[in-house]
Amino acid sequence: MNNFTYKKVETITDAVQEVSKNKRANFIAGGTNLIDLWKYDLAHPEALIDINSVSSLKKIELLTSGELSLGALVTNSDTAYNDIVSSKYPLLSRAILAGASAQIRNSATNGGNLLQRTRCYYFYDKTAPCNKRNSGSGCPAKEGLNRMHAILGSSESCIAVFPSDMCVALSALSASVNVSGPNGDRQIAFENFHRLPEDQPQLDNTLQADEIITALILPDEDFSEHYSYLKLRDRNSYAFALVSVATAMTLENGLIKEIRIALGGVAHKPWRVPEAEDFLVGIKPSRYNFAEAAKIILKGAKGYGGNDFKIELSARAIVRNCMMALDPETQRPGAQPSL
Ligand SMILES: Cc1cc2nc3c(=O)[nH]c(=O)nc-3n(C[C@H](O)[C@H](O)[C@H](O)COP(=O)(O)OP(=O)(O)OC[C@H]3O[C@@H](n4cnc5c(N)ncnc54)[C@H](O)[C@@H]3O)c2cc1C
Repeated sequence: MNNFTYKKVETITDAVQEVSKNKRANFIAGGTNLIDLWKYDLAHPEALIDINSVSSLKKIELLTSGELSLGALVTNSDTAYNDIVSSKYPLLSRAILAGASAQIRNSATNGGNLLQRTRCYYFYDKTAPCNKRNSGSGCPAKEGLNRMHAILGSSESCIAVFPSDMCVALSALSASVNVSGPNGDRQIAFENFHRLPEDQPQLDNTLQADEIITALILPDEDFSEHYSYLKLRDRNSYAFALVSVATAMTLENGLIKEIRIALGGVAHKPWRVPEAEDFLVGIKPSRYNFAEAAKIILKGAKGYGGNDFKIELSARAIVRNCMMALDPETQRPGAQPSL
């Protein structure tokens, strides 16, 4: 039996104050991940802090800087269907709608999406060792079932992947994360929010235990003409990505002016390689050039047997998705890319 206290808070200040009181306190937002983890005996909050009444976290706001602020408590559905998001940042809408199910997206929040935990089978199986769950116990995935596991950025201690779709688009869009804590507010660039496992796989990200995510900030950039999110998975719905790719691009005189490519399902964090993006700037958008960029992105990729196929799959997914990004028509639900 896991006894816990429950407290509803109405302000960010109260939320931070409450979470600072107990190292085993947890916020609850939509509850779609936390409650699952709790049922699996993987989360044991002593104090549950319900942030659902913090109205300041529920807004989508266009800032005077031109950036768009997505409140941490806005649901994934409300974010995906928001007029500004779907017109100016359609890549984000696409990625969100590729995740989970409509019912889950109606409860799942933006803040919670960033903090969802890995779906590694060994992490969920309490009879198995797992360095992420029980530091120093080992990583059976390396020699075991690893079809869905990392091909990039893994370490001796962990080969789990971060499963979010939304975060792959946020990475490509160079978002940042606003957080509040006892020492005030800070902003974390998206590439520094999630971390690689190294020798501390128990840490998924750089958020401190006494901090709350308040908003996600999207830069004032427009990739609404050339974008695409491709999610490859075992089932066509209600499944996590084996490999996903988010591409955002602008063209000028038939050449690539700017491009962002982020991968999901392949590492402990969304995977972006600026060197590959730099390579593509100023050249023609072609299958050949995207394939060359894929080589740069996948440099050092390593399989563990069951997931070796993901290296080739990723290379092909990058090329296919970048080609799809050229033609917004392929973004219509049900449309087939003309490759
Ligand atoms: C069956 C199923 C399928 C799914 N499929 C996909 C998928 O295909 N793609 C995908 O991307 N996701 C998928 N998800 C994951 C889903 O998107 C996440 O569970 C959801 O986004 C988490 O949000 P939440 O508000 O429910 O978080 P909660 O469960 O409430 O919280 C999750 C964690 O975040 C913390 N937290 C929440 N909000 C804050 C905050 N503002 N500040 C600090 N800490 C906070 C909580 O303390 C907890 O540790 C799936 C989930 C399920 C159950």
